[in-house]
Amino acid sequence: MKVLYREDLSTILYTETQIATRVAEMGAQISADYDGKPLVMVGVLNGAVFFLADLMRSIRVPVSMDLVAISSYGSYSSTSGVVRIMKDLDESVESKHVLIVEDIVDTGLTLNYLVDYMRARNPASVKVAAMLSKPSRHRVKVQLDYLGFEVPDEFVVGYGLDYAQRYRNLPVVAVLKPEIYAGHDTPPNL
Ligand code: 5GP
Repeated sequence: MKVLYREDLSTILYTETQIATRVAEMGAQISADYDGKPLVMVGVLNGAVFFLADLMRSIRVPVSMDLVAISSYGSYSSTSGVVRIMKDLDESVESKHVLIVEDIVDTGLTLNYLVDYMRARNPASVKVAAMLSKPSRHRVKVQLDYLGFEVPDEFVVGYGLDYAQRYRNLPVVAVLKPEIYAGHDTPPNL
């Protein structure tokens, strides 16, 4: 089948089938871990909504969802770790089990901020499900309770991840050709 945006991509890292299989495995694990517990999945807009929707449908215990939107200060290449909440939780998470659902963990600064932010709201617990992680880029120790895949130190798009708002609807995870963003600040000197 013809891959959407194929001419802009260098390598396809994970296919639709590989993603679906991994998401189902994660869903089964989460279902077992949260059986009988009030679980709220908190997705981070915009990138995580694709992963959130698929992961949630593979969970076989009652679960609710909420969404937060954040904006990071600083350019992509110098993530400051200072994060502003642009859209807060709609419901209280007090005494509930919170599962933060993130698209990709790069330096880990955003995720660490979100974990602290949720912990301050007196939940029963806070865990993290991330679709992708770039271990070589982590600048802080990150808590990744459920992880889809590790990716190399390259700029990836698809399955919700964009570059300048494009490529989110690509059903695979792929490396974007560097010439697409040449001359721009994002992404950085990877
Ligand atoms: P961190 O705070 O971990 O450095 O930044 C995480 C955020 O950076 C992600 O939620 C995502 O928005 C963005 N990001 C990091 N790496 C990539 C990448 O390879 N591709 C895309 N599209 N976004 C990325």
